[in-house]
Amino acid sequence: MTSDAPYIAGQPWRIHDPRRPHPRVVEPGTPSTHEEPGAPPEDAVVLLDGRDLSGWVHVETGAPARWRVDPRGFVEIAPGTGDIQTVAERGDCQVHVEWCARPETEGERTRSNSGVFMMGRYEIQILDCYHWPSSNADQTTAGIYGQHLPLVNACRRPGAWQTYDIIWTAPRFEDGRLVSPAHLTLLFNGVVVHNHQQVNGPTGHMLVAPYESHPPAGPLRLQDHGHPVRFRTIWYRPLDAESGPPHGM
Ligand code: MG
Repeated sequence: MTSDAPYIAGQPWRIHDPRRPHPRVVEPGTPSTHEEPGAPPEDAVVLLDGRDLSGWVHVETGAPARWRVDPRGFVEIAPGTGDIQTVAERGDCQVHVEWCARPETEGERTRSNSGVFMMGRYEIQILDCYHWPSSNADQTTAGIYGQHLPLVNACRRPGAWQTYDIIWTAPRFEDGRLVSPAHLTLLFNGVVVHNHQQVNGPTGHMLVAPYESHPPAGPLRLQDHGHPVRFRTIWYRPLDAESGPPHGM
């Protein structure tokens, strides 16, 4: 490279600049199977391993989460005990969630409602929709609840473990005003169902509401909708400047 090589647009680096730092080295994980959860990537923060709920609290009270830890290696919603959320708070992130509708709920699909709330506010719906449409299309599983349908319905049967791989861009606020809405990319069982989809604002039943300013980081919240949905592995990777020091070469 010569010192007069041109600069890359919008970057402080010349093209093929030998001084430019390399990306961090990360050991990737392994895929999950129905029988076994996969290993998370090396730099993931494990929020749930199916064996304890120590990183989770009741949303309303902050008391320890009271969902049922099953010795087979998953956590099951204890209906009526309330939503739970992580103590950890994140902004932009990649999140992996494994969930399962109980097999015995087949034929009673309305028993399998839950949800993953990004930053405690924006729900990705969980519902058993295997060969079973929800009453309203905007309440389909993997939809942004009440806003955006998934591109397709990629549900597995009740009793099968299912995966959400979420890429989340948090909304930005300045002086209490929205400057950039949240965006979501979601792979449901490996199938892209949202591609950088803009989120309209907070979600809720019959709720059409504008954004309200909130901190740049928030918890991951799981919904108790009165149904015994199961969760196995949940991990995240921050996607911002605080993602950790470089290592390796
Ligand atoms: Mg729900």
